[in-house]
Amino acid sequence: MAGENGILIVAETGADGSLGSITNELMSAAQGLSADLGEPISAALIGSGVGDRAQDIIDLGADTVYLVDGEQFANYLNETYTPAVIAIAQQANPRIILIGHTPNGRDLGPYLAVRLQTGIASDTSGLSIEGGQLQAARSVAGGLFRQVVSFPKMPAIATVHMKAYDGAEPQSGRSGNVVNVDVGLDASSVRSRFVKHEDAQVEGIRMEDATIVVTGGRGMGDEAGFNELYKLQALLPQSAVGATRAATDSGFCEQDLMIGITGRVVSPDVYFAIALSGASQHMAGCSGSKNIVAINRDPEANIFSESRFGVVGDYKQVLPALIEEVEKLMQG
Ligand SMILES: Cc1cc2nc3c(=O)[nH]c(=O)nc-3n(C[C@H](O)[C@H](O)[C@H](O)COP(=O)(O)OP(=O)(O)OC[C@H]3O[C@@H](n4cnc5c(N)ncnc54)[C@H](O)[C@@H]3O)c2cc1C
Repeated sequence: MAGENGILIVAETGADGSLGSITNELMSAAQGLSADLGEPISAALIGSGVGDRAQDIIDLGADTVYLVDGEQFANYLNETYTPAVIAIAQQANPRIILIGHTPNGRDLGPYLAVRLQTGIASDTSGLSIEGGQLQAARSVAGGLFRQVVSFPKMPAIATVHMKAYDGAEPQSGRSGNVVNVDVGLDASSVRSRFVKHEDAQVEGIRMEDATIVVTGGRGMGDEAGFNELYKLQALLPQSAVGATRAATDSGFCEQDLMIGITGRVVSPDVYFAIALSGASQHMAGCSGSKNIVAINRDPEANIFSESRFGVVGDYKQVLPALIEEVEKLMQG
C-alpha cells in the first residue's frame, strides 16, 4: 500500500478497563517520532465498552483513535485482536506501528507482521527517524550488544520494551477524531476462548510500581541473609524487594522476585543493588532505574560502573548502618 503516513500505537487496557501504563509509554515514543516526521499519531483502541477511553488517549496526544468496541474483544485473543489491528491498519495506513512488549503485544506483533507481510523489531528500547524511516535499537545477547535495525518495507512494526519511555503526560481537553472500525469478524470462526484472568497474589506494592527497589544477589549468602533486605524495605515508602537469578536459584527467596532479562523489569527512582555483581542479564531488568546504589565488597564488581552511588564493603556491616541512618531520617 502506498502513501503510508503517521504512527499507529496499539493501546492496552487493564482488566478494569483503564488504560495500561504501556499506552502512555507508547504515546511518549510516538510523540518523538511524530515530531521528527511531522506526521500524526493515531491509536488502535480495542475492547468491550472501552469507548470512554478514547478521549483519554486523545489527551495523551493521539490525533485519531480507531475504535473497535464489541463483546468479542472483551479480552485479548490473538484470533480476534490480529484481524482488529489489521482492519485498523488498513484504514490508518501508518508508516509505523508501535506495540507494547507486554504478554499480549509479544503475541500480537509477530502475527501482525506476517499478516501485513512486513518486518518487526521486537523488544526495542530506542526509536529514531533516519532518512525519513524508523530505526529501532534493541538489546541482544543478554544486554551485551545493542542492535540497530531499519525496515525496507512499511509499515515498520516495533514492540517497545516496558518502561523504556517515561509515560506521556495527558493534556486535558485536547481535540481529536474517533473512528469506529468494523472488523467484520465471523464469531463462529474463532477457535479459541478466553477462560479467566487471575491476578497474582501480591503482598504490598507490585515491584513494577515501586519507586524504590531493594535487590539482593548471591552475596547475601543464604535465606536469612536475604531476609535482612526486608528490614530496609520496610522503612521505605512505595518499595519492594527483588533478587538476582543467582539468589532465586540458590533458594534465598521466591522465583517470582527475579529481575532481569528472564525476570521482571523495573525502573524505580532508587534501586539498591546489594551483594550482586551487575551481570548484563540482570541489568537488562533494572537499567532504567533513575539511581542505582550499589553495595559490594569487590571494588571491581561491574555494578559500580552502572551505579550513581556505591559503597565498597561487606553488606553485613554496611546494611545495618544504612538501616540505622534511614530509621533516623524517617523519624524526622
Ligand atoms: C540466558 C541467561 C539468562 C539470565 N537471566 C537472568 C536474569 O533475568 N536475571 C538475573 O539476575 N540473572 C540472569 N542470568 C544470570 C546472570 O548471568 C548472573 O549469573 C546473575 O545475575 C548473577 O547474580 P549475582 O550478581 O547475584 O551473583 P554473582 O555474579 O555471583 O555476584 C555476587 C556478588 O556479590 C558480591 N558479594 C559477595 N559477598 C558479599 C558480601 N558479603 N557483601 C557485599 N558483596 C558481596 C560479590 O563480590 C559479587 O559481586 C541469566 C543468565 C543467562 C545465561
